[in-house]
Amino acid sequence: MASSMCPLSSESLKISQRQLFVPSLQEIKNVVSPALAENFSEVFVEVVDCPDLTQQPFTLAAAGLGGVKKILEVGGPSFLLPIPQRHKIYELKSILDCINDKKMEKRAFVVGAGAGPWPRLSKNCEMMMNVVVSAKDLKNETRLSWVGRNEECILEESLGNDTRFALLANLYVSEGTPEKVLKVHAKKRTGKLDFIATMQKALQAHYKDKLVGLGGTFLFKQGKVRQHVMRDFSTAPLTTENALNNWLKFYEMSAPLVAVGTFVSAQTDLDLRVQHFHSFSHHGEGGHYHIDTTPDIAEYLGYFGVAESLYRIDQPAVCVDFGKD
Ligand code: ZN
Repeated sequence: MASSMCPLSSESLKISQRQLFVPSLQEIKNVVSPALAENFSEVFVEVVDCPDLTQQPFTLAAAGLGGVKKILEVGGPSFLLPIPQRHKIYELKSILDCINDKKMEKRAFVVGAGAGPWPRLSKNCEMMMNVVVSAKDLKNETRLSWVGRNEECILEESLGNDTRFALLANLYVSEGTPEKVLKVHAKKRTGKLDFIATMQKALQAHYKDKLVGLGGTFLFKQGKVRQHVMRDFSTAPLTTENALNNWLKFYEMSAPLVAVGTFVSAQTDLDLRVQHFHSFSHHGEGGHYHIDTTPDIAEYLGYFGVAESLYRIDQPAVCVDFGKD
């Protein structure tokens, strides 16, 4: 593991890099398939060429999940709980400049889940990052969602050239190029685990001390799903899981939803969040994925790439024992 400081951010950020164990897609297919079959009645897992993810129904900012593949975990729930550390504002481009290899990648396609740049809205919000950054261009299709005055969910699509976020994020960085990916199609949930937890726990059980990380996207094709949106920052400290769950606003959101995020096989000494996906839609809903609430008709279609390295950025000194679901 290598550690360095990123001098490009306003506050110098500590960055730890770790090489990940990179199994073949075929091996991962073999590891997750039995677990998926225990939790869903219809399961199809294949290694395929990535479809063009810029097209419906995914509508992401780049076509593929290939090239140099990295997972970034920035900050963590300790910067939100029990009291928000409002000064924890990050800028994606500066972070990418710090972690790029010397033969600087030409293009970064970044998707994932985090807290949005609260100064933009003057309130706390969820972020579904979906952006292509290159030396010359920025294609920013990141969405933010927040809780409106009448407790409704509001989803904003246009951030312009603002690539900031806050507090915490779990991001998958690739070059956005077409490459083989793991396709996971699962229907009708029969077990207790959600779509991602099913695969995460299978990786955890199989790889043990070898750290494996995946990222990408899944479409929630049919049914309803329990998702939360963070309200504006709490004035009272959130010291228990109960207080946290009362502060979060939970919704039942409708398909189709497009989720973006990462999952890793283990928490390790880097205090990693083992899974984190946020989803957006074209019908005004978006938030943090928990689990579908309509198991009989639930249907998921995911495409995932396997990361080669992981960057732990600005790891909090203190761990919290809740807030990572
Ligand atoms: Zn989240």
